[in-house]
Amino acid sequence: MGTREITRTLCLVKPDGVRRGLVGRILTRFEDAGLKIVAMKMLVPDEERARRHYRYEDIAVRHGEAVWNRLVQFLCSGPVVAFVLEGVDVVPVVRKLCGSTEPASAPPGTIRGDFAHHTYEYSNSAQGSVRNLIHASATDEEAAYEISVWFLKEELVSGYKRSDEAEHYLS
Ligand code: ADP
Repeated sequence: MGTREITRTLCLVKPDGVRRGLVGRILTRFEDAGLKIVAMKMLVPDEERARRHYRYEDIAVRHGEAVWNRLVQFLCSGPVVAFVLEGVDVVPVVRKLCGSTEPASAPPGTIRGDFAHHTYEYSNSAQGSVRNLIHASATDEEAAYEISVWFLKEELVSGYKRSDEAEHYLS
């Protein structure tokens, strides 16, 4: 296997995850799977960055303007931890570890299934944003775009090896 299949994805521990003290446990799930952290930062996003991340043309079209507005407000409501993970076809692997978007439907063993529980119906009736702890890019193209929203090129640090890397990347 060559290096072609090694890709990157963008993750955010959203403000609910940070406030609940879950950053370490969430990161451990990815590290345990052999994924390599190649960038990381904590910040309180401003509205401009949140709007660039949750693109109106994507979210408002799929879920409606009210959901988009609540999401943007929620993302700016406190610190987030942004990080980039690298691994073999990593985008679907990370989405699998996160579990489905709605916590109530996320299977046990996933981040959302184990650490959250509420439904879209509940969050929408409460006019809040669904508390699903984490964001992870949905496609390679989305990952490339989202990495550029949160990181400068020079903030990506790939010049190190994990000590178990040879067990994950077969050459
Ligand atoms: P994902 O983050 O799993 O890729 P989407 O891109 O479809 O999911 O949605 C972005 C975010 O919008 C979700 O993480 C979730 O917080 C919120 N969201 C999605 N659908 C709904 C909905 N029907 N009601 C409320 N919030 C929603």
